[in-house]
Amino acid sequence: MSDNSFDAIIVGAGFSGLYLLHKLRGQGLSVRVIEMGKDVGGTWYWNRYPGARCDIESMEYSYSWDEELEQEWQWSERYSPQPEILDYLGHVADRHDLRRDIAFETKVTAAHYNEDRDRWSVTTDGGETLDARFVVMATGCLSSPNKPQFEGEEDFTGETYLTGLWPHEKVDFTGKKVGLIGTGSSAIQSIPQIAKEATELTVFQRTPNFAIPAHNHDLDPDYVASIKASYRELRAEAKEQAAGFTGSSVVNEDLAVDLPREKVEAELQRYWDKGGLTFMASFSDFGVSLNSNAIAAEFIRDRIRERVNDPDTAELLCPDSYPAGAKRMCVDIGYYETFNEDHVHLVDINAEPIERITAAGLKTSEKDYEFDAIVFATGFDAMTGTLAKIDISGRGGKKLKDKWADGPRTYLGLMSEGFPNLFLVTGPQSPSVISNMIVSIEQHVEWISDCIERVGKGVIEPLETAENDWVDHCNAVADLTVYPYAKSWYLGDNVPGKPRIFMAYLGGVPEYRRICDAVAERGYAGFRIDGVAGNAKVDPMEFMEQNEKVLALVMKERPEALAAFV
Ligand code: FAD
Ligand code: NAP
Repeated sequence: MSDNSFDAIIVGAGFSGLYLLHKLRGQGLSVRVIEMGKDVGGTWYWNRYPGARCDIESMEYSYSWDEELEQEWQWSERYSPQPEILDYLGHVADRHDLRRDIAFETKVTAAHYNEDRDRWSVTTDGGETLDARFVVMATGCLSSPNKPQFEGEEDFTGETYLTGLWPHEKVDFTGKKVGLIGTGSSAIQSIPQIAKEATELTVFQRTPNFAIPAHNHDLDPDYVASIKASYRELRAEAKEQAAGFTGSSVVNEDLAVDLPREKVEAELQRYWDKGGLTFMASFSDFGVSLNSNAIAAEFIRDRIRERVNDPDTAELLCPDSYPAGAKRMCVDIGYYETFNEDHVHLVDINAEPIERITAAGLKTSEKDYEFDAIVFATGFDAMTGTLAKIDISGRGGKKLKDKWADGPRTYLGLMSEGFPNLFLVTGPQSPSVISNMIVSIEQHVEWISDCIERVGKGVIEPLETAENDWVDHCNAVADLTVYPYAKSWYLGDNVPGKPRIFMAYLGGVPEYRRICDAVAERGYAGFRIDGVAGNAKVDPMEFMEQNEKVLALVMKERPEALAAFV
């Protein structure tokens, strides 16, 4: 094989790419990883903004495949900060000698399938062309920052920052007047930290978010020892939970709508006091019923009103235009209290639209603001944005971008018809961003490496019928839930012109795993291997647990959604 020819090329060296490199190398394959960044880390390499940390607890937001590492590594906090997660991934790279197969500071610009040779040609921004039987896009769901264009940006004489592309050196806001646009997770994490340094911080909000307190704390050594003593059980339990982390499955058999309000509120308070993302798992009807969800939403709004002193500011921070959890729930550390500080201001850009950026700051319909720095905490072109930047063509020169013009189409979020031997890690229509991503990443990496082992020197691709059925199933499950009732990046709403389709799979992490396993066990049902399609089928409904009470509730509220699901 030439220097530029590999069994597999992996694009991306975050949690996904690193584990995949380790796995495929272990299977005896020649592998090259191509990574734009100067080092490993992915999300945790790029998102260095103040306050960045995970919102799934560190003991679970970590690899489970290296049991010695699991025992040796010491996480410092319940939700560890970005530098620590980046150190962890650097340590993994060293420990498994991964960097020697990674080309850093190299961007993949194109990947073309050559039907005559059943191989992919992968082109980089350095002009190099590499060749491989398999290509795996480990390019991340949240890896293309979304930077809306504001008129007059080039006139601004101060500093500008984008949370998803934060500088490596410390940014010091001491003595500065700062403007910040956005109130999503990145903003909610960074605002309290920036407020500690800035003389004035003005936050421009378009849509308020629901945030649950993190109750973050240093990890108690006894607690850590107890987890480490039974880590296998914890990991196994996480895989069986709805969102891939413990506490994400509902345990309450009663529905919130069937209980007296005081009982529901007492239960919500219990979850609130625990902190973090398990809050919405308190009752199973919150995710599907708008009426039930309103109870959770009002509970959170009441807590915001308690935390924010000025009633007008509190009301502005209270989301009331969409169901709780339908936009990605945030986890906060002192976010709401930050607005009690005299030097922190909130501007509702619905009432006072941003007209332009000026040389001195920013102009709204009401006022000229002067800033030394502007922070854009404006999110990502999620799920498909990074893939769309790569010129990917499959059979017959078909472009992935064209195929996905009306929204992504995949079979299981793992492959797309017409693009043989091209795999996606946590691709659209898999649980991905709805889950503890590490659990979902590991599941995909393991499924993909097993598949590659089975295919050997052959070719695998999904059948169009299987893909169509899967896309329909994903949409039907999404329509059963309250998610479509918010404008969110899950649906592409944050990027002008992006088609509106729910881009993750909401059927649950354990159900999804069982579906993928059944597909493999039944001879890769729904795929064609070396031109031959088996007869076996996998009907996702075989694996879905039906909660009769919840379905009855949906029947009352949205019978058409239920009809499409069953
Ligand atoms: P990424 O980490 O995004 O890595 C993809 C890599 O691909 C990047 O390094 C990128 O540079 C590279 N790449 C992309 N395109 C190209 C190209 N064309 N050529 C070369 N290289 C390319 N998830 C959770 O479950 N829990 C959390 O607490 C959590 N917190 C998060 C916090 C932030 C600030 C963000 C943005 C996301 C968070 N996520 C969280 C989601 C997070 O993205 C995943 O948990 C995980 O880190 C993704 O790993 P990955 O390897 O799949 O992708
Ligand atoms: P986000 O949730 O999409 O938030 C972006 C914010 O910018 C929103 O408030 C959005 O308003 C606003 N915005 C976008 N375009 C705008 C415009 N043109 N004018 C004014 N405001 C605009 O992005 P994010 O905060 O970076 O988070 C993205 C995801 O990454 C999260 O949902 C989460 O999955 C992950 N993440 C996790 C953590 C963590 O806690 N571990 C931290 C950061 C990120 P609208 O809501 O009105 O669109």
